[in-house]
Amino acid sequence: MIWHVVVAIIIVKLTSAENVYCACAVGNAALYREAGRFETLFAVIPTGMCVQYSNGLEFVTVENTTWISLEYGGHSGFADFSLLSPEVWNGVCPTRLREIRAGGSHCPRIVTREEWGARLPSHTIGHLPEIPQYVFIHHGAGSRCHSEDECAAKVRSYQEFHMVTRGWWDIGYSFVVGEDGNVYEARGWDKIGAHTYGRNTVGIGISVIGDFRTQIPDDAALHAVIQLIACGLNTGKIQTNYIIQGHCDVVPTECPGNAFLDIIKSWPHYHRSNDSHCPPLDELS
Ligand SMILES: [Zn+2]
Repeated sequence: MIWHVVVAIIIVKLTSAENVYCACAVGNAALYREAGRFETLFAVIPTGMCVQYSNGLEFVTVENTTWISLEYGGHSGFADFSLLSPEVWNGVCPTRLREIRAGGSHCPRIVTREEWGARLPSHTIGHLPEIPQYVFIHHGAGSRCHSEDECAAKVRSYQEFHMVTRGWWDIGYSFVVGEDGNVYEARGWDKIGAHTYGRNTVGIGISVIGDFRTQIPDDAALHAVIQLIACGLNTGKIQTNYIIQGHCDVVPTECPGNAFLDIIKSWPHYHRSNDSHCPPLDELS
């Protein structure tokens, strides 16, 4: 009887990935051997890199700056806490820029409708009935863009396509992101979009300009998406228990592309529903 319990505990231990604590740098975070003593600098954690730390996190406040203890490169040191976004991760901490969820209250640059030359909507668009829980990820499925001029032209062409060809009231997405690293305001945080059939009233739709079936968006675009989601969280525009899904998780479509999906699936709030139309997770990458 006791052995059964012991075996059961061991199985649970082996099969459940453990939560680990990670700190992801939202700016270049200098590491000092002693908190607040700048002459003891020994390393810099570059923006976007995540470092795992043990449960015994130590906070030290020196002259209005809070420092946290970290292990990095085999040494322990202290970094300015405002440059690190603490994360609880299921499994191993991500180490690449494209996998972090940036924290803090940072919002990426959002190019307004006026700035990218939007047409007015043809009808008044209704407000989302409540704070959305879902973030649906799309791709434009066309060519890419790497400058603000190029990307703004792409966003205008999306709007034209949605309004003229599709007959919608406005560009369908909530936001569009370019590989120039900018976010382009489409319907925005508060309006009901036309991006994810059947789910438009419960989520926002973010589309990255480009075709990501076999290639991934560049780091600038991925960082902008991650920052936009963090910005939505920090400004109360999406629910804290938000769920990220690809368009294909809801609707039979190749969108947002398998290469892109392979990245999204590692984001902490990604949830694969049972009736997803996306390729099985073990077929990705
Ligand atoms: Zn889509």
